[in-house]
Order: sequence, then C-alpha cells, then structure tokens
Amino acid sequence: MKSYRIACIPGDGIGKEVVPAGQAVLEALAAAQRGFRFEFSTFDWGGDWYRAHGEMMPAAGLEALRHVDAILFGSAGDPHIPDHITLWGLRLKICQGFDQYANVRPTRILPGIDGPLKRCAPADLDWVIVRENSEGEYSGVGGRVHQGHPIEVATDLSMMTRAGVERIMRFAFRLAQSRPRKLLTVVTKSNAQRHAMVMWDEIAVQVAQEFPDVKWDKELVDACTARMVNRPASLDTVVATNLHADILSDLAAALAGSLGIAPTANIDPERRYPSMFEPIHGSAFDIMGKGLANPIGTFWSCVMLLDHIGESEAARQLMQAIEKVTADPRLHTRDLGGKATTEEVTNAVCALLAQNDRLRVA
Ligand code: NAD
Ligand code: MN
Repeated sequence: MKSYRIACIPGDGIGKEVVPAGQAVLEALAAAQRGFRFEFSTFDWGGDWYRAHGEMMPAAGLEALRHVDAILFGSAGDPHIPDHITLWGLRLKICQGFDQYANVRPTRILPGIDGPLKRCAPADLDWVIVRENSEGEYSGVGGRVHQGHPIEVATDLSMMTRAGVERIMRFAFRLAQSRPRKLLTVVTKSNAQRHAMVMWDEIAVQVAQEFPDVKWDKELVDACTARMVNRPASLDTVVATNLHADILSDLAAALAGSLGIAPTANIDPERRYPSMFEPIHGSAFDIMGKGLANPIGTFWSCVMLLDHIGESEAARQLMQAIEKVTADPRLHTRDLGGKATTEEVTNAVCALLAQNDRLRVA
C-alpha cells in the first residue's frame, strides 16, 4: 500500500486546533479509501519553542522536513513575540528554504456560505490567485540605520529577478491554460513603480507568447480590488507579486465569506523539495483555545495537498464532504454566523468520509 509522509506543524494560536483537525480528516479519508495511508510526524515549533530555545524552529529543522511528501502548516504568530520574528523564523524559513516560489490561493463560493460575493457573482465563480512567494516586497532586503535617533532611516527593498518573475509567470500561464476559461489577469503597479514592475510587465508579454491559447490582460492592483467587487466574473486566474497577492487573497477570502474557509498551497513546482499547505488565516488570538476556529480552510488545504501528491480521487471526495458540511448552517462556526465548534465540524466531515466508504463496500 502506498504510504505518504506528512509533516504537521501546528505552530501557534488556532494552528494548534485546526492542524490536528486536518490530520483527523486525512486519517478518516485514508481509512475510507484504503488505497493509501499516511505517516504523520508532528513538529512543535513556534512561539512556545521560541520561549524555550530562543528560535522558532531548530537550525536543523529543514533537514528534518526535507524528505516528507508534504507539510501541513497551521499558523505562526504569538501575542508575546514580534510578528516579524515569528513569521521569518518559521513560515518564511520553510517557504524560502524549500524555494516554494508559487503560492496558490483558490476562491469559490461554497454551498451554504453567505458572503458579499454571493450577491454579485455567479455561483460557479472560481478564482485562483497565484502569489509570487520567494522575492519581491518580502525579499527581506533592507535595514535600519541610526536606530532611535532623529535621523533614523529604514528600508525594505523590493527585489525582483528576471528568473524569479519568469518562473512565476510561466507557472501562472500554465495553470491558466489547464483551467476551463484559459484566462489570466496579470496584476501590476507599473504606473507608479517604474523599474521592477515594468520588468514584470515585460516578462508577462514574453512568457505569454509561449501560451497562445491563454487569454490574458493586465490590471493595476488598486483597480483590481474594485474589479473583484464590481466585476468578479471577469477574473479567473490571477498572478501578482508577493505583497499584492497577499492583500488581494485576503480580500478574496473575505468576499467569499470568511478568512476561516480559505486555503493556500506553497508549492515548489519542480518538486525538488516538499510543498507546504496551510489555511490562509493567522493565529487568531481572539478566539484561540475556545473551539471556535473554523477548520474548513485547513480541510480545503488538505484537498490541495492530496491533489499535489497525486491522490486526486481522494481530493475530490474530501472537497465533496466539505461542501456537504458547509451547506448545512447547523455546522457553521461562529465566523460564519453559526454555533458549531471546530470538533463538530471535523466530526461531520469524518463521518461523511466514512459513509462514502460504507456506500462503496455495499
Ligand atoms: P488572523 O487571520 O489570525 O485573524 C483575523 C480575524 O479573523 C480574527 O478576528 C480571527 O478571529 C478571524 N479568524 C481567522 N481565522 C479564523 C478561523 N479559522 N475561524 C474563525 N475565525 C477566524 O489575522 P491577524 O489577526 O492579522 O493575525 C494574528 C497573528 O497571526 C499575527 O501574529 C500574524 O502575524 C499571524 N499570521 C500568521 C499567518 C501565517 O502564519 N500564515 C497569516 C496571517 C497572520
Ligand atoms: Mn497574508
């Protein structure tokens, strides 16, 4: 029987609630499918690890993850540690260490979930935002000089490399080509940022020539926010820089109903390293430890994980179970206006997966 090694990194806050929920769902799926199994290993890195060891994860941590088939991640962020330390010390260390340069964020209107998009978009709306995940505004290049003095200076340099832009454009065009509408929007800000973003636009034109069957257009990022609200059906696949796509994808999640339902994949398309799957949301300090966290974003991330490792039938079944659960308002968590707990939603998804199994056996 095929066996997949999955590393679980719950991290901080509600990551500690939604990642075990994701693991439970994957286990239920493997039990029902019977064609494969998972070997999970959990790494307790994050804020608590930082308090004990002075770092968010051990120096040799990447080596420990190097040979797993996929990583399921929760969130990094602790109320008592500055956000740039938690983010750079764990999540970005893994994303950058494993060169997961394509961050993929789908948005759909799930059955039963009410959000602003539902009122202005067709029910079959299907966006995928591709975020450059290795450089740009979050390259980490910059510094502070004269700290604390009146002449203090601070810079964050946005670094764009030709190789980095070419590979994310190619990934986005290829993804658009594989989807029914073959439609790509390249988000830019080349009116105001006249160097890197101009190169970004030029490379889009060059790469587009390799994909003559993909229709594509260009949109300034500020205009794109308005287009997402006013003409949502005009978008399908979207590619944007690290910062732009970070913001656009949170907007997409909120428009679709809640941050709690949106998934992400951090992908190394060349498969030199493991890829990492995580809900889009953060540690949600305001609700942590209360059983209020919506696990749907993590479950949908598990769907992406399954697709990535090649178990597409299992991915389809899990997505179907997720949609059955969201369709039932009694199974909505508080962020969706309901009263269900993380555990109740998890149990409902697991029960549906087990039911599939019984139907298959019968
Ligand atoms: P957040 O996503 O943690 O929370 C924003 C709001 O959405 C909160 O009101 C929260 O309760 C709600 N929410 C988020 N996920 C939910 C879920 N699954 N179910 C129900 N409600 C949910 O964003 P924030 O408040 O800006 O950040 C909190 C911390 O998380 C910060 O330290 C930040 O740096 C970190 N963070 C980490 C990641 C990551 O690791 N990928 C992403 C975003 C934020
Ligand atoms: Mn973000």
